Amino acid sequence: IHPTIAKKDVTLHIIKTFGLGMSKKLGQNFLIDEQVVNSIVTAAHLSSADTVLEIGPGIGTLTQGLAETSAQIVSVELDVKLIQVLAKTLEGYQNVRVVHGDILKFDISREITAERYKVVANLPYYITTPIIMHLLESRLPIELLVTMVQKEVAERMVAAPGGKDYGALSVAVQYYTQPEILFNVPPQSFIPSPAVESAVIRCTVRNVPPVALQEEKLFFRVVKGAFAQRRKTLSNALKTTGLDKAAIGWMLSQAAIDPQRRGETLSLQEFADIANAWSTYKN
Ligand code: SAM
Repeated sequence: IHPTIAKKDVTLHIIKTFGLGMSKKLGQNFLIDEQVVNSIVTAAHLSSADTVLEIGPGIGTLTQGLAETSAQIVSVELDVKLIQVLAKTLEGYQNVRVVHGDILKFDISREITAERYKVVANLPYYITTPIIMHLLESRLPIELLVTMVQKEVAERMVAAPGGKDYGALSVAVQYYTQPEILFNVPPQSFIPSPAVESAVIRCTVRNVPPVALQEEKLFFRVVKGAFAQRRKTLSNALKTTGLDKAAIGWMLSQAAIDPQRRGETLSLQEFADIANAWSTYKN
């Protein structure tokens, strides 16, 4: 009885019926490609035992695909105008709950009580990185994230040391998860077409961190410092952490890292070695 929303004519019909203006500010680009929706849903390996947090359901395009798996879906949408649209387009799906809110401010643990859950989303591109960082740092019981992001952002998430794509986002994503780019999506798969290429990335949350740390927060301070001024050598860049020259010199020698290197060449293990040297220095 439900028409598939992920089609150009159905989407245009919904937009017209509800008199929707698409908000560029809120990153509203709606999927019109059924195959892309199906591939995203398949990538999340859903069964009726799963709970899914969807961010930004829009008019319910991806939500519908998720709901068809019989998993429990909680969708958080910021645009209040879309809440009444979703009530209509997703009418009859007993396993979907739409919540009005800002994913960055919202108390997710109050809405979802499942022991573990998955995040599936076609993210609003203006806040992709803040959303991903927020979810990873929140320590919520998320086991998997399957998200549509700008292709460039996906490339930064999986980047290896040494290139221009490698930065604080790469280190954080790879510290918390095992990321893999699944496929690219062209602008024509959305209404309106975004200016950029997109990609779907799957991040499987690690049960055990890939590096052993004495203090996790020092690891992230080193990473932040090293990339805050990425053109500088490590011995200079790390001054932004507040440490003095002697301390930095001692830490780098302890970690057996050449102070002339730049942060963008360091592996997760090397960042960890510096952070662990910092712990030793402090104590
Ligand atoms: N899921 C739909 C689809 O695939 O067609 C729409 C995706 S659209 C790229 C992003 C959606 O996120 C929009 O509906 C937008 O209103 C919503 N959004 C933007 N900022 C948000 C925020 N901070 N919290 C929750 N939703 C947000």
